[in-house]
Amino acid sequence: MTTHKLLLLPGDGIGPDVMTEVKSVLAWIEKAGLAGFELEEDLVGGAAFDAHGKAISDDAMALAQAADAVLFGAVGGPKWDDVPYDVRPEAGLLRLRKDMELFANLRPAICYGALADSSSLKREIVEDLDILIVRELTGGVYFGEPKEIIDLGNGQQRGIDTQIYDTYEIERITRVAFDMARTRNGKVTSMEKRNVMKSGVLWNQIVTRVHAEEFSDMELDHMLADAGAMQLVRRPKQFDVIVTDNLFGDVLSDIAAMLTGSLGMLPSASLGAPDALTGRRKSLYEPVHGSAPDIAGSGNANPIAMISSLAMALRYSLDMGDTASLIEKAIANVLDQGIRTADIYTDGMTKVGTHGMGAAILSELDSLSEGTEA
Ligand code: NAD
Repeated sequence: MTTHKLLLLPGDGIGPDVMTEVKSVLAWIEKAGLAGFELEEDLVGGAAFDAHGKAISDDAMALAQAADAVLFGAVGGPKWDDVPYDVRPEAGLLRLRKDMELFANLRPAICYGALADSSSLKREIVEDLDILIVRELTGGVYFGEPKEIIDLGNGQQRGIDTQIYDTYEIERITRVAFDMARTRNGKVTSMEKRNVMKSGVLWNQIVTRVHAEEFSDMELDHMLADAGAMQLVRRPKQFDVIVTDNLFGDVLSDIAAMLTGSLGMLPSASLGAPDALTGRRKSLYEPVHGSAPDIAGSGNANPIAMISSLAMALRYSLDMGDTASLIEKAIANVLDQGIRTADIYTDGMTKVGTHGMGAAILSELDSLSEGTEA
């Protein structure tokens, strides 16, 4: 049985609550004989600041670099509002992303049939939606230089941001998108603004070349990013994988997220380059939501985003796609049974807390695996 090395960083607020449910799912996977796990756990965010005076220790960073995947809860909260900027809780996450060179952000938008009525769009448009947005995370206009506000000396100021993409940055994000598409429906849609931006022209050319040279067995489409935004709300199920730059990805992934309902349901992943020896990418998996200080400690956090983040880690980092699908099926079945945490509760459903939802998913995993064995 393969053993995988995982680093758990629960963080602050509801992070530890939802991570506890992930630990139970990991124990279930081991008990079912599907894989073994070597688990390390460490502090991040405000919890690390309280212990070490910084948002992540060098020891925790070393564990993250050595892990097959990092599972991250959430960081931050009012307790740390006044700590110095460079050691604020979010600095822990930023250091992980920077030191592990996590340049690709993966945001799936999955709409479970049972929750389709909570979307702001019509049921038939979003029901059973399953798309993946691959966003370039470390380049583009958020980081390009010059980046400044200058005084023009005539009573006017000028704000400048610079959109820059080099060939290698576009090549590597394109490869991530096609690698993901290969585990899904084999279709990538690239979005940029080649009609008005030189970086968009280059983006389009390089995605086209990488597709032709390395992934011609899969399908590639191009769409202008504004048209893509429109299509995402008009007919989102036409997409499989969308690849786009940092700025457009920021906006498009939030649009896609809202197609699906609650923050408590949304997982994400950030990936780095493949290791030269093993081919495995550095990776960090985390729910999209924050530390939710308003409900921390109440036992009411929805653990599904965190458990779905584990499912992503199984699929994209640990080569355990079947187990990932089993977990996703268990989540869908629990929702079909009307079991809901407070954030997704509607009249007539059965309300449970964080642990109740985790237990319901485990029990469904038991039923599904019995079904498989039979
Ligand atoms: P948030 O995501 O923590 O919460 C927004 C709202 O959604 C709250 O009402 C919260 O109760 C609810 N919510 C979020 N996750 C939920 C879940 N799993 N189950 C049920 N309800 C859930 O965003 P915020 O309130 O803007 O930020 C709170 C703190 O989290 C801040 O300190 C912020 O900086 C931090 N934050 C951290 C991350 C991260 O760690 N990656 C991301 C976003 C915000």
